[in-house]
Amino acid sequence: MARLSRARGIVLRTQDHAETDRIVVLLTPNFGRLDLLAKGARRLDRPSGAALDVLNLVDVIFYLRSGLALLRAADLAGTFPNVRGDLDRLGCALAGVRWALRLVPRDAADPDSYKLLLGFLSALERGGPPKQLYLAYILGILSATGHRPHLDGCVRCGGESDLTWSPELGGLLCMGCGGEGEVLTPRLVHTLRGLARLPLSAAGKLRAEEGDLRAIEGLLQRFGEVQLSR
Ligand SMILES: [Zn+2]
Repeated sequence: MARLSRARGIVLRTQDHAETDRIVVLLTPNFGRLDLLAKGARRLDRPSGAALDVLNLVDVIFYLRSGLALLRAADLAGTFPNVRGDLDRLGCALAGVRWALRLVPRDAADPDSYKLLLGFLSALERGGPPKQLYLAYILGILSATGHRPHLDGCVRCGGESDLTWSPELGGLLCMGCGGEGEVLTPRLVHTLRGLARLPLSAAGKLRAEEGDLRAIEGLLQRFGEVQLSR
């Protein structure tokens, strides 16, 4: 039987459905990823349609039922105008949303992932460094959803010298244990650990080199491709 419920959530995705409907995907604290059917949301006379844009914070009332939950009402609770107005920030925010879509399971409470995404968007809105916040957020949401990369020394021997990156083994791997490719500089490893360990607000203040941040983004991208396709 359908049950009327409420939630606050961040819009992760919307897609057209049938003639006038949309499917709206939210990240919420109590329902994790929540997919909602918004009947008639594409009709111009439905004001709730505009509230459902990606990145908006919305309060929704919906029917939980077998199959797709049915949206009854949506109220805009917040937008991130500074994020939308800056291509760099917007790009990082949308990439962050894609990680949430990949990582957060449907219909299971996940307050940590919600808090991380909200904290990330809020920090971007306040003017924090986009790339750095983005990487700290990815490391946070990987950890919150059970995919934390291994960063405490080599994954096999725990050693600290000649560390390389092994997406297959889930993190740092030393040359002596079969690591391949480029050896990561101690400075890069230090930055990576700092971004993983610190809360978002502090991670935004970490001193980091632009080149290291770009390299770390590449490492996490490969990690995601290998670890999340299993
Ligand atoms: Zn080793």
